[in-house]
Amino acid sequence: MAKVLCVLYDDPVDGYPRSYARDAVPRIERYHDGQTTPTPERIDFAPGELLGSVSGELGLRRFLEERGHAFVVTSDKDGPDSVFERELPDAAIVISQPFWPAYLTAERIAKAPALKLAVTAGIGSDHVDLAAAIERGITVAEVTYSNSISVSEHVVMMILSLVRNYIPSYQWVVKGGWNIADCVARSYDLEGMQVGTVAAGRIGSAVLRRLKPFEVGLHYTDRHRLPEEVERELGVTFHPDAESLVRVCDVVTINAPLHPDTEHLFDDALIAKMKRGAYIVNTARGKICDRDAIARALESGQLAGYAGDVWFPQPAPRDHPWRSMPHHGMTPHVSGSSLAAQARYAAGVREILECWFDGRPIREEYLIVDRGTLAGAGAHSYSPGDATGGSDEAARFKDRGPTSGSA
Ligand code: NDP
Repeated sequence: MAKVLCVLYDDPVDGYPRSYARDAVPRIERYHDGQTTPTPERIDFAPGELLGSVSGELGLRRFLEERGHAFVVTSDKDGPDSVFERELPDAAIVISQPFWPAYLTAERIAKAPALKLAVTAGIGSDHVDLAAAIERGITVAEVTYSNSISVSEHVVMMILSLVRNYIPSYQWVVKGGWNIADCVARSYDLEGMQVGTVAAGRIGSAVLRRLKPFEVGLHYTDRHRLPEEVERELGVTFHPDAESLVRVCDVVTINAPLHPDTEHLFDDALIAKMKRGAYIVNTARGKICDRDAIARALESGQLAGYAGDVWFPQPAPRDHPWRSMPHHGMTPHVSGSSLAAQARYAAGVREILECWFDGRPIREEYLIVDRGTLAGAGAHSYSPGDATGGSDEAARFKDRGPTSGSA
């Protein structure tokens, strides 16, 4: 019997939903590159249900308890008195979502001698100290591709929202106004702009594909170049590094994982090389940007707008400068947790657990760390190391009120 410790975000403030806006989510069987969506033997939930919050339990309780495992689900994840830290010492498996990450720092890993498997319900395992996981022989797996398209849709939405000045215009309506000049004084067309992605993996290349019909100039930088025919099909220009990309772009979208090579990549120096009035959309990880450099660039006008859904740490303290800086379009970390995405990553977690318990190999593309080294998707896209430094600051979110509701 294993103890499975699962950290999920809180239920809605009005309670777990009894009904939904729509009756179903579309059934997707394959992703763009032919990879199949998760293939567990069974699922015990209806796709379209809220699975990522505490009461949704990723639809795993019946499966785990039928097999005799103990299943602990909590949202209380930060600080030494949290349920997560109390339950961690005898946990064999930790499951958490990047939206509400259970930071597995080296200190916490040292307090978890039984821990063998850390599963990310979603994509992006930077909340785990990968160097410490490698050293301890802990397997780290995530549900590659499960929400990449969800995020790419969100990126397109945020680019258009910033460039067209949607959010302030919406606010004028809510306030009872009809202030056209106020709305349009910062409103532009995306058509004809140069748009670049830092990383053209699953999300980055899906963003490029989605933006092509907007008749923009497309650019990318990545550690590995896209196949020539894909570059030609998309009409996209390769840049050897982020610096040469940002110099020519009006809009930059960040779609790389957070690891030591990308941590604080967008600092004062890189932002200074961007065109004045450029926009950044970052749905990858908050820490790829220097928090204060972004706020400064929006204040000075070097950036015309910044949007995204990723922060550091998460949840962001209530006085995080990105909550109050000008011309931002930030949301909590939601882009990869649509109800459709939840159905896929919950099924993917189930598939990973079925494999683990039955002694079958986990899909190569789901692996980040295995047998003491970066493996699978991790070997391709990450560098070994730790990007969790400073994550203990997430406990400050609790300082002023409960974790649910009062944001
Ligand atoms: P992929 O692994 O498909 O793509 C990541 C790409 O980043 C790869 O092409 C990789 O290059 C590239 N890359 C890595 N390091 C660098 C670097 N230093 N400079 C340029 N490119 C680099 O992952 P996804 O596209 O599916 O996801 C990307 C990230 O987006 C995730 O790691 C996660 O952090 C974030 N994400 C956010 C979500 C949200 O809800 N906001 C949900 C899902 C993901 P290569 O492999 O060629 O070396």
